[in-house]
Amino acid sequence: MIKLEDSYSHKGQRKALVKTLERKGIMDKKVLEAIGTIPRHFFFDSALHSHAYEDKAFPIGEGQTISQPFTVAFQSELLALRPGDKVLEIGTGSGYQAAILYLLGAEVHTIEYNKSLYQRTKKFLPRLGIKAYFYQGDGSLGIPEKAPFDKIIVTAGAPVVPKSLLKQLKVGGVLVIPVGDRKTQKMMKLTKKTAKQITQEEYDSFAFVPLLGHEGW
Ligand code: SAM
Repeated sequence: MIKLEDSYSHKGQRKALVKTLERKGIMDKKVLEAIGTIPRHFFFDSALHSHAYEDKAFPIGEGQTISQPFTVAFQSELLALRPGDKVLEIGTGSGYQAAILYLLGAEVHTIEYNKSLYQRTKKFLPRLGIKAYFYQGDGSLGIPEKAPFDKIIVTAGAPVVPKSLLKQLKVGGVLVIPVGDRKTQKMMKLTKKTAKQITQEEYDSFAFVPLLGHEGW
């Protein structure tokens, strides 16, 4: 078993990261607290530990990335989680976003397309005491057998809003998803007001890896 060490130096760097996120406009205290609690360097290859608290995305293998902390905080804030919310995350990746959702009190269901990332993260997160349900497959189709969800968060860039995801959202539920081309996407927040009425808010641009699959690229 690998020993995971959270040193004073890492704690200090994490505090500084939280200040940076506050300066950049993140206001949700619970989100900031979660970022200040989860040791992001645990999610990195040891060769990259010194970069773990920079506000940047980094490679996690398999051509994929751990999202920039600002992006994780921004998406988490938009979700406006309530304790006990049943949340579907599409794009498990390193598991960092899933860990933040767990700390915010969500029941986390997370799906990853890439088999080896799925296997790695499914083993790793429980070692940190993080509980989540892990699935491997095409998350652009959601997980119909586990629906409905209170909240859905997509952590890869989609060409359009997948219909399956809207269908699997509860009335009153929220979908946060970056939508655009393969390089840049606008962050969107869709709220299911009634079974037929969806409202839509659009935010700044982000640069995600592409959402693959049936309702992706
Ligand atoms: N949330 C992750 C984290 O905290 O590390 C970062 C995710 S990374 C930016 C995007 C992830 O989405 C990649 O791991 C990629 O394999 C995955 N992905 C892409 N298309 C997918 C799909 N259709 N279903 C599930 N996962 C997908």
